Amino acid sequence: MRANGWTVDGGRANVASRSEQAGHGGPERYGRTSDMAEAARAKPKPTPETQHFWDGTQAGELRLQRCDGCAHVYFPPRPFCPSCASRKVSVFKATGKGTLYSYIIHHRPAPGFAPPYSIAVVELDEGPRMMTNIIDCPQTPEALQLDMKVEVAFEKLDDKITLPLFRPAKG
Ligand code: ZN
Repeated sequence: MRANGWTVDGGRANVASRSEQAGHGGPERYGRTSDMAEAARAKPKPTPETQHFWDGTQAGELRLQRCDGCAHVYFPPRPFCPSCASRKVSVFKATGKGTLYSYIIHHRPAPGFAPPYSIAVVELDEGPRMMTNIIDCPQTPEALQLDMKVEVAFEKLDDKITLPLFRPAKG
């Protein structure tokens, strides 16, 4: 089973291109992998709507959008507020901190992933939820505690794409 896309506010969306969404892609690409599996992993492709986000991860920043009208903070990127439809929205740097909201552990291989690996939903301190992987942590229910504090960790894939992953927060 595959879960495609990044989840926010109960909805589904993908920061990758729509063509990629239809075929391969999905959160599996955000995990760690062996060199052998690397070739099979699909990478997100920035679009005009998501370029600020990928520019941010490259710069070591997690960038979210906030509606200038109703102050709603949202993810994934889009040019209008999902709450009030205003097109007056601003990009800002998030803290990169959040809590582990939910996860599943996969035990079967997937392109670009070595099992077991988790696909997690992190609830950011700013509110939006983001589908990601938890790294620097055993992929077990004992280690992956719901509501544990996590912080963003950037993993560079290539010159264009740096992925926002999360690890247990220090301290
Ligand atoms: Zn709004």
